[in-house]
Order: sequence, then C-alpha cells, then structure tokens
Amino acid sequence: MSLKLIALPYPADALAPVISRQTLELHHGAHHKAYIDKTNEAIKGTPLADADLNTIVKQAAIRRDAALFDNAAQAWNHGFYWNSLTPDGARPDAALAKAIERDFGSLENLGKKIEETAVRHFGSGWAWLVARGDSLAVLSTHDAETPLTGNDNPLLTIDVWEHAYYLDVQNRRPEYVKGVVAKRLNWAFASENFARAEAWVYPG
Ligand code: MN
Repeated sequence: MSLKLIALPYPADALAPVISRQTLELHHGAHHKAYIDKTNEAIKGTPLADADLNTIVKQAAIRRDAALFDNAAQAWNHGFYWNSLTPDGARPDAALAKAIERDFGSLENLGKKIEETAVRHFGSGWAWLVARGDSLAVLSTHDAETPLTGNDNPLLTIDVWEHAYYLDVQNRRPEYVKGVVAKRLNWAFASENFARAEAWVYPG
C-alpha cells in the first residue's frame, strides 16, 4: 500500500482569478505529488509502510526523522489546504459561527486576523485557524510544521510558500492572501473540522 495524491476537490480552474489554473496544476501535480512520492519512498520496507499519513507525520515528529517529517507533513498540509479552499465559500455553521463571534467578535475580524498572520509570516510556511480545546486561535507555522503534531485541531489553512502564489502575483503575497480570505476559504470544511475533536484524516 502506498499513499495517494488525492484529487483536487474542484476543477483546476475553479479558484481563478484568486488562484489560476496554472498555479493549481503545478502546485498539486508537481509540488504535492513530489511530497507524496518522497514519503512513499521513505516509508517503503519500514514499519510505517502501511500506516496512514496522519500516523506517519506524528511518528516522524516523535522520532525526529526530519527528512520523513518534511515530506509527510507537507503531503498532509497540502491535502488539508486543497480542502480549505473552495470556489463558493459557504458560511460557518451555527456552532462555529458562535465560537467565532465569542473569540473574534465577527467573521470579518477573524478574516483580518488570518490575513495579517498569513501576510506577516516570514519565509515559507502556513497560516492556520485552529481549535484549541473550546477556543479558536490563529497561528502560523514554518516550512512543513503542522498543528497535527500538537494538541490543536486545525480547521483551515493557507499555504504561504511562494509556490502558492508566485506565478499569479509574483512577490505580492498580500494580494493572494486577501483574495483567499475574502473569496475562497471553505467555511463548510472548517465547520466539519470544528465539529470533531480530532484532526482531519488524509484520505488514501
Ligand atoms: Mn504548497
């Protein structure tokens, strides 16, 4: 058994103009695929060969296996990212909406906080909305680092590696982030994640 590159949950041109078809095809078909391929190579013939990706990421972190961790965590983060985006941003469900209002005042304020965190993050990495116990928090992680290895339950993420936006807006990360936050975040996915205590499981 080996890990699979999951299909995008929408056509490659569905997120345009915020994220172009060209960016999405390369990001999914080359970057995400390479992380999956390298993870498969690394686990081949080891006790993790038949493990699911969530387990592989957590085990790699525990064992301080940096080469495996970087590829496996990036494979998981990208699967989570595709699902964090949508062509037609649904609204948060009642439970998540209530938590957002309690912790951030409004969805608009939360959007500003996510935007600010994603724009300010220095270098490659990810901006996240997470559930921490009953509360919500916005944070960023460097390189392949992921909330999956800690106690936070990730609800949404934005990839802020340059490969996520460079073809579309070159170095103008704020433009990409603003478009994603305003029009492409998948609040239905965030609501599903919030309804569970555990992190999303990478399928396949
Ligand atoms: Mn990426």
